[in-house]
Amino acid sequence: MVPAAGSGSRLRGPRPKQFLRLAGVPLLVRTLRALARVAEIDGLVVASPPSDILGTRRLLRRHRVPRLLAVVAGGAERQESVWLALQAVPLESRVVVVHDAVRPFITRELVQAVLVAARRHGAATCGLPVSETVKRVRAGFVETTLDREGVWLVQTPQAFRRALLWEAHEKAQQDGFSGTDDAVLVERLGHTVRMVQGLSENLKITTRADLSRARAFARRRRPG
Ligand code: C5P
Repeated sequence: MVPAAGSGSRLRGPRPKQFLRLAGVPLLVRTLRALARVAEIDGLVVASPPSDILGTRRLLRRHRVPRLLAVVAGGAERQESVWLALQAVPLESRVVVVHDAVRPFITRELVQAVLVAARRHGAATCGLPVSETVKRVRAGFVETTLDREGVWLVQTPQAFRRALLWEAHEKAQQDGFSGTDDAVLVERLGHTVRMVQGLSENLKITTRADLSRARAFARRRRPG
């Protein structure tokens, strides 16, 4: 499942960033194609900006995105978009992969590694250990230097047993909890989440600078 309902406000473009093109191919299309290359993924569910569902469907049809199951209206927050997309995941799916539309450079091996870990442990994410020094800064001054031992930066894909992800989202809603990824909702249930080594190329395209880097990277790679 791919949450793609963000407005891309940090890029200040006329269109949400997931529709911007990288070497001629819209970001969302690249991301979906990368997921569809994974044999274990039976179908794709996309959460789109509510005002652009028809446009998203048309775009994905025009680019012949394979194995598309549904394009649903997303919500105001990423967490809500994932919840709404989860309703469209077929009941027979035991494990669900959640992957941000704005991370097009995933590999088949990475998605498979996260899937294997989720099948085994119920919940898994990928990420990278922090290699730089981490400080907390307030009002322009360093407040404290944090111990980076065991600190990871978290990416998607993440994968979960469907029933566990469902329960985690329900509990978060009951508690009014809002998280920046899905793993944290599962952690709140007291359930373990397996960490898999991610990729430095698995860039999250959020700012103009990210987009420039991604465009340079996409030109060097085979077409999405
Ligand atoms: O907001 P952020 O940059 O963390 O977005 C990560 C992913 O979540 C993007 O693919 C974005 O389209 C998606 N998102 C969403 N619904 C929202 C906000 C973000 O599906 N309301």
